[in-house]
Amino acid sequence: MELPLTMTELFETYLPQMLGALMTARALSFFGTDEKLKKNSLLVAAIAFLVLGFKNILICLSYFIPQLTHGEFTVSPLVIEGISIALVSLASLLLIIGGFQFYKALNWIREELAVITCVLAWLFMIRIVFLTPPDSHQMLTQIYLITGLVFLGLLITLPKFKSNAYTLKVTGLWMLVLAFYYFQDMMPWGFSNWLLESLLYLLIIYNVYVTADKQLQNDVKALAEEVRAAQARLPLILQASPFPIMISALKDDRLMLVNEKAATLFNIDMKKLKQFRTEEYYVDPNTRKELLRRLSTTPLVENFQALLRKPGSQETFWLEMSARVIDFENEVALYTAFKDITAQKKHEQQLFEQAVLDPLTGCYNRRQFMELAAKEIRRAWRYDTSFCLIMIDIDHFKRVNDTHGHAFGDEVLKAMAFTCKQTLRDSDIFARYGGEEFIILLPQTDLPGGMIVAERLRKNIEDLRVPLPDGVPFHFTISLGIVSSGATDDLDELIKRADSALYAAKEGGRNQVRMYGEKESFEQTKTEILEEENSFELQENIVRQAQEALDKATKEDVS
Ligand code: GH3
Ligand code: MG
Ligand code: MG
Repeated sequence: MELPLTMTELFETYLPQMLGALMTARALSFFGTDEKLKKNSLLVAAIAFLVLGFKNILICLSYFIPQLTHGEFTVSPLVIEGISIALVSLASLLLIIGGFQFYKALNWIREELAVITCVLAWLFMIRIVFLTPPDSHQMLTQIYLITGLVFLGLLITLPKFKSNAYTLKVTGLWMLVLAFYYFQDMMPWGFSNWLLESLLYLLIIYNVYVTADKQLQNDVKALAEEVRAAQARLPLILQASPFPIMISALKDDRLMLVNEKAATLFNIDMKKLKQFRTEEYYVDPNTRKELLRRLSTTPLVENFQALLRKPGSQETFWLEMSARVIDFENEVALYTAFKDITAQKKHEQQLFEQAVLDPLTGCYNRRQFMELAAKEIRRAWRYDTSFCLIMIDIDHFKRVNDTHGHAFGDEVLKAMAFTCKQTLRDSDIFARYGGEEFIILLPQTDLPGGMIVAERLRKNIEDLRVPLPDGVPFHFTISLGIVSSGATDDLDELIKRADSALYAAKEGGRNQVRMYGEKESFEQTKTEILEEENSFELQENIVRQAQEALDKATKEDVS
């Protein structure tokens, strides 16, 4: 297959334009500025160059097609020319549209004006393709292309077009030179040189690439600057906050930034900031772990309450915290804002104590006991464990009041409650049931175990000495009734049974422990008590009679 002689001619004419246009389009298409319109206009220009390149491909192919199809298929040169004219016109039009978009970006003209101009340009193009004689097509499209190139080139080069890359202006300049090249080519005195044309396209491509690259660098620089400025503003914003705020590195808990309020709150020396660890502020280290655990599931934790302290000081305070994981100084950091809720917490605590504690002895009141005991009974039922209930009553307490006064009676009650609390475990529920009666629930305790506890209580109270106002030690005893959870789990019933066991202890002579169900010994001790009381009365009578006799004898002696 022999290539036509015109092949060299063909490539010399169209190849530089084709490659140049394609490359320029590629370069322009990834050129981006942060101003949308400017970017769009360059994109339009890119498409224009693409169309230009496509036109040349089409022309080149049209020379091959008849050869390749062995003459079976021929494309009329007129069709090729028509299409290529249309494409050149389209490309030129796009160059003009691109130029107008620059105008819009600069706010020099109104949008409607740009639309009208474009419509006129289209009409002009249609006129060229369909209404003018084919002889003048070549020339007219050339004029059109020149117009487009001049238009875009001029706009980019104008000083009012503020591009931060001067290379873009140089691109415009080369576009003008290219336009001039096409212009002189049309003139009778003009010349055509494909090498020169290629060079011009290459210069345009090179400048566009450099501009895009610079633009990218500038964008990155501007972004970095913005981030830096935002970070520089952060400390100022933090200082103005009405709340204590701190930022700490998540990696090693080191403090990175705190405002004055946080520095005062936690006793932080701003100069030695990096030596501090937030861990030191938590009274319970698990609180911080819990905060981090929550932050691992959600980026923002609010209303997190924690008990904190100044390092090296016993002073604690309740704080409500809002915490968020942020990016600070290129590190993953924890931003925490605090609100002091110590007063609120104290008040809550006071209200709680008022509601659940007995004001005289500081142990639970009856209502709280009923609540806690009900919970404990449910737990015992669930885990199938036994528990004991003990009812205590101070022996002959009326006498204490009558002999030493009500105030001293109160002292005795306090001392008694204190001793019981000392004797019991933390898990035992100890409450003042009313007057000088106390109640205890011993969780996970069987009857023998409960008996040991009750006996220990009895013994400890028996050994207790409460100093009277004159310093003389006073001692007293208690009676205890105990019941185990075995037979029933009903709290009221259990209390009733413990109470009856207590009654048995009283009847049995006081200062003793009785368990529910000791009927025989109860009856037995009842008579013993009566006997004891009788003998006490008898004794008193004898003393009184003896005293009277003595008094009488003395009187007689005197007279
Ligand atoms: P027994 O050995 O049978 O228990 O005799 P008792 O004198 O202790 O009799 P009882 O249990 O009926 O007495 C309760 C007394 O406790 C009556 C009441 O004056 C006194 N009391 C109740 N509450 C208080 C209190 O808060 N302070 C003082 N000082 N006495 C109280
Ligand atoms: Mg009583
Ligand atoms: Mg009593």
